[in-house]
Amino acid sequence: MKTGQINVQTENIFPIIKKFLYSDHEIFLRELVSNAVDASQKIKVLAANGEYKGKVGDLKVEVLLNKEEKTITIKDSGIGMNAEEIDKYINQIAFSGAEEFVEKYKGKEGSEHIIGHFGLGFYSAFMVADKVQIKTLSRHDNSKAVQWESNGSPEFTLTEIEKSDRGTEIVLHIAEDSKEFLEKERISGILTKYCKFLPIPIIHGTKTEYIDSPEGEKDDKGEIKKVSIEVPNQLNNVKPAWSKTPKDLKQEDYDGFYRELYPMSFEQPLFHIHLNVDYPFNLTGILYFPRLKENIEVQRNKINLYSNQVFITDSVEEIVPEFLTLLHGVIDSPDIPLNVSRSYLQSDSNVKKISSHITKKVSDKLASMFKKDRKDFESKWDDLQVFVQYGMLSEEKFSEKASKYSLLKNTEGDYFTLEEYQEKIAPTQTDKEDKVICLYTNDLEGHYSYVKAAKDRGYDVIELQGPLASHWISKLEQSNDKMSFARVDADTLDKLIKKTDEIPSKLSKEEEEKLKEIFEDCVNKEKFTIQFESLSAEEGPVMVTQPEFMRRMMEQQKLGGGGMMGAFPEMYNMIVNANHPNVIAVLSKRGKNKKNTAKTMTDLALLSNGMLKGQDLSKFIERTVGLIN
Ligand code: ADP
Repeated sequence: MKTGQINVQTENIFPIIKKFLYSDHEIFLRELVSNAVDASQKIKVLAANGEYKGKVGDLKVEVLLNKEEKTITIKDSGIGMNAEEIDKYINQIAFSGAEEFVEKYKGKEGSEHIIGHFGLGFYSAFMVADKVQIKTLSRHDNSKAVQWESNGSPEFTLTEIEKSDRGTEIVLHIAEDSKEFLEKERISGILTKYCKFLPIPIIHGTKTEYIDSPEGEKDDKGEIKKVSIEVPNQLNNVKPAWSKTPKDLKQEDYDGFYRELYPMSFEQPLFHIHLNVDYPFNLTGILYFPRLKENIEVQRNKINLYSNQVFITDSVEEIVPEFLTLLHGVIDSPDIPLNVSRSYLQSDSNVKKISSHITKKVSDKLASMFKKDRKDFESKWDDLQVFVQYGMLSEEKFSEKASKYSLLKNTEGDYFTLEEYQEKIAPTQTDKEDKVICLYTNDLEGHYSYVKAAKDRGYDVIELQGPLASHWISKLEQSNDKMSFARVDADTLDKLIKKTDEIPSKLSKEEEEKLKEIFEDCVNKEKFTIQFESLSAEEGPVMVTQPEFMRRMMEQQKLGGGGMMGAFPEMYNMIVNANHPNVIAVLSKRGKNKKNTAKTMTDLALLSNGMLKGQDLSKFIERTVGLIN
């Protein structure tokens, strides 16, 4: 028996570990299982390099729960440790055995799969246990099995024990305040979260399987009976799709892996990117493009970050640019420092490189899809546009590239690149200031009459969809001062695409004043401003418009959380065409008829915009029915 002092500077490091090592106590299991997986990988490496001559055997890691004894045991058949190694690797906290191993076996087969390099993982056991035992038999010939034990003070004991199988058992005697970890569900939950894709089988408990009766018993129908047996319950898939090479995978493998990652999701992704980099940093992973819905927040933050197949986190904001958090999938990189603060991560040069690499990959993938099969790209565009718009709004580099394959879809369902569209509409939709005006709608049904009016004039209208559209067109306008966007109901067509100077009014100032009074009487003044304009005869008599600038501001504010919502009341213009014969005719009407004619015109304008509601609608119907009789 040997006793001694654990080699640390601090008088008692355990309370510190307990409090500060990881804010999340459940991490202890990830750390210990990772160590067990490392030890198993190491025996493989040693055997492959001829340094271990014995049988490697079936490698697995078992997690055993004993509620009565209040213990959790993590058992592996890895390289094990002898007394000397325990001294070196366990007693010298922060002397990381893993790092030393990787250093020594750098470049040799299998060594890149070693997980740990922090030298503290083992001690996380003391976050939940008040006594920890290590029972271990090393791989070395004629080794003696030893047991290390410590109760959370810097003192430990080391004794020889009987143990005939190679490998290590870590026995945690769970502390009173950590009893939750003695619940089967809790442990299963943690293991599923962190160990789902570890490269060595992780066994926890048993599960029932049905097999043909070994005695060949038959049932009534003469078929061989099924009998139930209990088999070890393996929790993980040791070879997840991202760890394979793309050429070994088919589309259905990628689809299957998506379901494995998100069992609760019914949607299939649009397409994927398989990341596979080994220089200047290590990065593998599969990113999926989801079909984005109107509410993009719900779908955000679904990328899982792994390090050598150990789950680390599902919040990757610090590692990928914000717009890429809309993607789903897995990123695995041993080069991302994991046990450091988040603010440090952002300034880490590896993280920066990884981030810009992923951005580039994503934009290259989109560009190549567009080039390779434009029709297919078009068919995905409606689902893809929010993502591309988000990227263009947040990353200048991405924006430059994406502006070449960003598409606009017109109401006929044809797709154009920005450049193509500008060329297409330039002959008809260039205003007198030489600006090309793109007319758009984001509500084909609601804007029907506006769209029709525009088309009747020979103009083209595009359909813009998604929560970012108004931000996006503002961005396009900024980068191209020859192009401007206007929603079809933003003003009269004469004004939206201004081709000539003012058209003279057919009304005198007094006549206009008189009419204005009558029309103002017909509408709710808090919501509508009556505006007389001398327009061409092609325009209708009265129409409702909502100025582009104000509406865009409102939309953008709404997306931004709407802290100032109250600042912009909903306001519309009621444009009266001073040159329209029906408007001029109001002047010559007598008595009640004067107001009624004007009212019918404003009501019709509201009606065609879906804004005539309630009492006003009911009165309108009554009046119209009256006309039939
Ligand atoms: P790290 O894994 O980051 O190096 P740990 O504190 O978790 O740090 O472990 C320290 C060292 O102890 C490991 O590098 C390894 O050499 C040794 N060790 C820990 N667990 C085991 C195990 N189950 N089998 C063999 N060696 C182990």
